[in-house]
Amino acid sequence: MTTEQIVLASRPTGLPVSNNFRMEQVELPEIKAGEILLKGMYYSVDPYMRGRMNDAKSYAPPFEIDAPITGSVVLQVVESKSEHYKAGDVVVGSFPWQKDFISNGKDVRKIDTNLAPASYYLSILGMTGLTAYFGLMHIGKPKAGETVVVSGAAGAVGIVVGQIAKIQGCHVVGIAGSDEKTKLLTSAFSFDDAINYNTTTDMNKAIAAACPKGVDVYFDNVGGEISDAVIKNINFHARIPLCGQISLYNSTEIPMGPRLQPMLLTRSVLMQGFIIGNFQARFPEGIQMLAQWIEEGKLKFTETIEHGFENLPKALLGLFKGKNTGKMIVEA
Ligand code: NAP
Repeated sequence: MTTEQIVLASRPTGLPVSNNFRMEQVELPEIKAGEILLKGMYYSVDPYMRGRMNDAKSYAPPFEIDAPITGSVVLQVVESKSEHYKAGDVVVGSFPWQKDFISNGKDVRKIDTNLAPASYYLSILGMTGLTAYFGLMHIGKPKAGETVVVSGAAGAVGIVVGQIAKIQGCHVVGIAGSDEKTKLLTSAFSFDDAINYNTTTDMNKAIAAACPKGVDVYFDNVGGEISDAVIKNINFHARIPLCGQISLYNSTEIPMGPRLQPMLLTRSVLMQGFIIGNFQARFPEGIQMLAQWIEEGKLKFTETIEHGFENLPKALLGLFKGKNTGKMIVEA
């Protein structure tokens, strides 16, 4: 059979454009004994994919030119010649941006769609939920009564971080890019306060006003000037899980900011970068806690779903324009 995939056509300079991607036809052979035929249902688009479009050394290798973009995908078994799977099973794995696949079943994991919607395995019960859990609980170490600030607060990771911090009994302030998002954080996701960085002229003052006792934990998803303003309000012995720096992912040169290290030093602040893979051995603990909080009604989630496989590039680019609330997902 013939299927379609999306390849990296060229490397972007600054913000990627649609011409950096190309749709191609590929042939799939007949499935053999032990194999399964899979159809992509939900595709994850994630900010880290931007880094892999550069030809630069990082924790994940660059995407190759003329080769497909890869990421997490929820798929349905369409045909099975494996004793371990039957048609209709829903699985998750890391795959190319392609509509149909043949697998030997070793690169996928069955998921329970009675426990949560299938797409949640790409987000709150997948990488982004785990990132929020381990980054906050194991680096941020929030204590009841402390103040937690999270940037990128209305995104996939941020919306979970804020709610986990509330479960821990903290005062939680989110930073996001629109009034619609900040209102949603305080009305539907139990944040105590939220700041729209696009309309606030003095972020330093706005953070001081929202955090009268200073900032004990800053979960940094965005970096740049937003983080500079939060760090100016940081408390003694604060913790900063350095999760993402999305404001810099499309920068063509490293921008100059204020020198904040003396403040971190004199206030004995811990700032620690992490990649979620660092916690792989402990994923079952994270999934168990996230699932429990969902079941208890303490943790809610939302998604922005783009429809159509061909819209994967558009959805990825949308992350850099704030088009998503919660996790950005593409439904094929
Ligand atoms: P996301 O927050 O769902 O989507 C990106 C959001 O970032 C956008 O909706 C936008 O929201 C905000 N944004 C985009 N450009 C911005 C800019 N220039 N300045 C400030 N905000 C900007 O993405 P996510 O999957 O949850 O990831 C959040 C961060 O965590 C990313 O930096 C990502 O790379 C990182 N991450 C790290 C790990 C890890 O292992 N360390 C794992 C997953 C994710 P607004 O409308 O609010 O601007």
